[in-house]
Formats: sequence, structure tokens, C-alpha cells
Amino acid sequence: MRRTVEDMFSFHCPHCNVDRLASTRDIISMHRNADGRLAYVRCPNGHTVVRQFHRPAPRYPAPVAPAAPTTTTPVVAACA
Ligand SMILES: [Zn+2]
Repeated sequence: MRRTVEDMFSFHCPHCNVDRLASTRDIISMHRNADGRLAYVRCPNGHTVVRQFHRPAPRYPAPVAPAAPTTTTPVVAACA
């Protein structure tokens, strides 16, 4: 299988204190939880790091129905 840039991702290894570029080949395992997808990724120095890939979209409050139209007569300015 041909690898592309889309197969690459970055992660931060707290043990090396370095941002690293990895490919899907460096993924040990992937999981899904309430925060989205995460993977255990192996650093080139052998450290195992958890990388969060996807966070769910923020939840916005439900829309509120527009207010009912007013029944009062609008004030119209008289023209001279
Ligand atoms: Zn490392």
C-alpha cells in the first residue's frame, strides 16, 4: 500500500519532550471512547504515547422558538 501525507500525523512524546511525525505504521492500537478516537502510538525511542485524534463536535443548546409577533400597532411618524 502506498503511503501518503494523509497517513501521517503528529504527536507529542512527553518522555522525549519532542513533537514527532508518525505514520499509521506507528499505531499500536486504536480505540473509541466518549471523547472520540484515540490511539496508542509508539515513539521512535520506544515510548508509548496516547494520541487523541478526534473530538466530538461541541454541543450547542437547542434552538429557541422565535417570539410571537406583537399585537400592538406600530408607531408611524407623520410627514409634514
Ligand atoms: Zn519518546
